Amino acid sequence: MPWVDELSEPQELRHCIRDLVALSTLPAIWKDYNLWQIADSVAAGLISMLNADVIYVSAPRVPDEAAVDVMRTSQAVSAGSPGRIERIIRAAWLDSREQTFAIDNPFGKGALQIAAVPMGFGGDAGIIAGSVNPKFPSETHRLVLGIAASHATLAMQRWHAEAQHRRLVSLIERSSELVGFARLDGTPQYLNKAGCELLGLSGIEEVERLNIVDFLAPDERTRAHRELIPLVMGTGRWLGELNLRHFKTGEDIPFLVDWFRIDDLRTGRPMNMATVSRDLRGQKQLEESLRRLNESLEQRVAERTSELADALQRLTLEAEERMQADVRSQELQLELLHASRLSAAGQMAGALAHELNQPLTAFTNSVNAGRLMIASGAHSVDTVRDVLDEAADQALRAGEIIRRLRQFVLRGETEMRIEKLPDLIREASALASAGTGAHGVRVRLSFDPRAEAVFGNRIQLQQVLLNLIRNAHEAMAETERRELDVATARLDDGLIEIAVADRGSGLPDYIADHLFEPFHTTKSNGMGLGLSICRSIVEAHGGKLRYEPNCGGGAIFRVTLPVPLER
Ligand code: ADP
Repeated sequence: MPWVDELSEPQELRHCIRDLVALSTLPAIWKDYNLWQIADSVAAGLISMLNADVIYVSAPRVPDEAAVDVMRTSQAVSAGSPGRIERIIRAAWLDSREQTFAIDNPFGKGALQIAAVPMGFGGDAGIIAGSVNPKFPSETHRLVLGIAASHATLAMQRWHAEAQHRRLVSLIERSSELVGFARLDGTPQYLNKAGCELLGLSGIEEVERLNIVDFLAPDERTRAHRELIPLVMGTGRWLGELNLRHFKTGEDIPFLVDWFRIDDLRTGRPMNMATVSRDLRGQKQLEESLRRLNESLEQRVAERTSELADALQRLTLEAEERMQADVRSQELQLELLHASRLSAAGQMAGALAHELNQPLTAFTNSVNAGRLMIASGAHSVDTVRDVLDEAADQALRAGEIIRRLRQFVLRGETEMRIEKLPDLIREASALASAGTGAHGVRVRLSFDPRAEAVFGNRIQLQQVLLNLIRNAHEAMAETERRELDVATARLDDGLIEIAVADRGSGLPDYIADHLFEPFHTTKSNGMGLGLSICRSIVEAHGGKLRYEPNCGGGAIFRVTLPVPLER
């Protein structure tokens, strides 16, 4: 090798040995250097060792670190704009990728000889040396450059590894969980800050004097020896709850322990036992307060449920009592109704005599008349039969009156249906005339075609009409003008009116004031019950009975009834 011959020259050899010795001291100097300092130191060293005009060191670009590019020039050249020179040299090297080449001298005239060595990180990291000396680089120069690059690469790699290590240590130290590892015989080698604080240990010196079993609460130790350590060593991991011991207070602290084995990545042999464990006191307290909350909640729910059940029971009882009260009240109402009917029946008893008096008188009259007719022999059989038929009709009518009254008293429902109003009026008028004798009364019946029907009980309504018409007849017994007008009309407000107007004596005030009260009468044989019964019947039909004086003498009785609903 020709360059070895060069070294045989004492001068060269001395230089070479001097440079190699200098290079061998660099790693020791770089121990605490950062990347930039390493790059700058190697550049400065090489300027003098290689007698170069420029040294450019480009450190590898790594994540989270700024790129490091350092350039040093000899005092012989002026760097001018260092950024420009850097770019030229770097671009020339990346272009040629040769270990030696020449470029136009960026510092002046002529050429700049270049020697470049990659730094072993891959990519474009490397050391580039330049000199205007045309003999640059000699083999010795390249040897020195290569050794410098290799030292710098190692130093930078170590720096990266240490930075990574520092990050991991800081991560573990800052963790709130207990992190530690021990030798396989159980001698602890490391316990993080949180671990020392949680267990009341002062630091790693105290930790190293213990065994991992000492970390466990006394009653956990046998289990650890017999079961857990063999499990960790056998399967590589155990995860579960364990009580550890606080070294100062002796308190048992529950931990969720992840206990595992660390194997050597290269040989696969077990190296350490390690743990990442979480203090469960906070979680347990939370669980306990949750459990208590749950219990109190359950208790409150139970209390509330029983209160609700009681309230429900009370409500049920109240509802039952109310229902019974309702039933009783209904019964009372019925009794009251019955009583009022009985009282009405009392009135009706009087009315009965009053009502029956008329048909029975008519009946007796007719029978007597018939007997006289038969005795005289002057009348035809047909005439006598008519008189007797009339007697029979009156007897039937009396019977009907009794039947209706009985039905009324027995609480039976009064039969109600649509009746033709003109028919009711005609019949009542005929009956009234027949009973009392016409007394020469001129009767006018006029019917509004819009008031053809009423809804009610035929007999009761007839009873009303009969009463009114008969009273009218009787009032006109002594008067000269004997006119009776019975007229129907459809009123605007959904009512039908039956007006019975006479030209009789009219009503004295003392009677008019108490007209519808029982037992007010001016008649020697009257009972004063007819109008009070009439009003009761009309009101039971949802209507009204009113009196008004007839202008020019006489009385008008007006019955209003609701128009029957369309069916
Ligand atoms: P009674 O006919 O048994 O007296 P009412 O209750 O039917 O009972 O009549 C009460 C009284 O009202 C009668 O006594 C009579 O004085 C008076 N009265 C009833 N209708 C008329 C009428 N159209 N004109 C004059 N007075 C009447």
